[in-house]
Amino acid sequence: MTVLVHDGPPMRVVFGAGAVDRVAEEVERLGLRRVLVLSTPRQGALAERVVALLGERAAGTFDGARMHVPVATVAAAESVAAEVGADGCLAIGGGSTIGLAKALSLRLGLPSVAVPTTYAGSEMTPVWGLTEDGRKTTGRDPVVLPRSVLYDPTLTYALPAAVSGPSGLNALAHAVEALYAPDGTPVVGAMAERGVRDLASALPLVVADGTDPEARSLALEGAWLCGACLGATTMGLHHKLCHVLGGMLDLPHAETHAIVLPHVAAYNLPAAPRADAALRRALDTADVPAALAGLAAQVGVPDGLQALGVDRADLARVADEVLAAPYANPRPPVRAYLEAILEAAWRSRGH
Ligand code: NAD
Repeated sequence: MTVLVHDGPPMRVVFGAGAVDRVAEEVERLGLRRVLVLSTPRQGALAERVVALLGERAAGTFDGARMHVPVATVAAAESVAAEVGADGCLAIGGGSTIGLAKALSLRLGLPSVAVPTTYAGSEMTPVWGLTEDGRKTTGRDPVVLPRSVLYDPTLTYALPAAVSGPSGLNALAHAVEALYAPDGTPVVGAMAERGVRDLASALPLVVADGTDPEARSLALEGAWLCGACLGATTMGLHHKLCHVLGGMLDLPHAETHAIVLPHVAAYNLPAAPRADAALRRALDTADVPAALAGLAAQVGVPDGLQALGVDRADLARVADEVLAAPYANPRPPVRAYLEAILEAAWRSRGH
């Protein structure tokens, strides 16, 4: 019998419409008195709303969070943190803003609270990333885990349909890979299956009406569960491919995941029957890759990597880099198959 180890992060979660109104309580629970509120420039108004809710516990704001956590951005946030004497930080936004809070936790030891507004799932993982001179370094350290996560579906009403669909499929990809991960457990399996079901049923409704309260709540619940799967397991070929594609060709994170997922699923699932069975149940289908491709089309995911401007000639370089670094996967990434996956992901749907 195989010995299992379940090592999922122990997260405190506050979930529901109006959860954001509890930020002051959560900050107080942690004993923080001078919190630096982090956001992207686009979400500055939301950050100000949090500052108002925190009252005297807000020490200041930094609204310069950027994709891939550039070291220069971290340095700028660090000086603001020092200037205002911050004893903690609060990230309100997507993976980019939460990534900045993680960098501050890693480098300054500042505890954080996360208020996620996309479906990326970073708040559930001990994985941090930093980018310097075009090179992204990542690592795992429990110190970067938020002490408290507040999921408020009403904050996602403003997430445009064109962002919501790919972001939801990005989350779903975490669950798909968790289902065949070498360190998967029954807890992960249950979370993954439920997360996939939630997202698959909610995303078409979310894209049709971004202010549908039930659909937004279900999608965010799915994102929470899928993020927790990501935090508890080792990802495989899909995440590796998307990491290389994103880094090498500077592609949008969520869209890349959403386009590539059905093609990696078609390759891996024949070698992962339990994952396939769980996904069939969750998606209510006999053909999981086709259902994933159908969902992507339905929620407006761009039509193939070519639609993101990828040059077909670059695919071989991507395959080289993927093959250069080993990772766990149900099927070995043989070059010919890898190229076929990339080619299929590059083409437009139905060709
Ligand atoms: P993002 O955080 O860059 O957000 C995308 C854009 O949407 C930003 O301009 C943001 O201001 C805006 N936005 C966010 N929420 C909004 C809302 N509710 N309404 C309107 N606009 C909103 O993108 P993302 O997809 O959330 O995160 C991607 C990043 O997160 C990548 O860099 C990825 O590597 C990282 N990530 C890390 C982990 C991890 O475990 N470390 C996990 C997942 C993703």
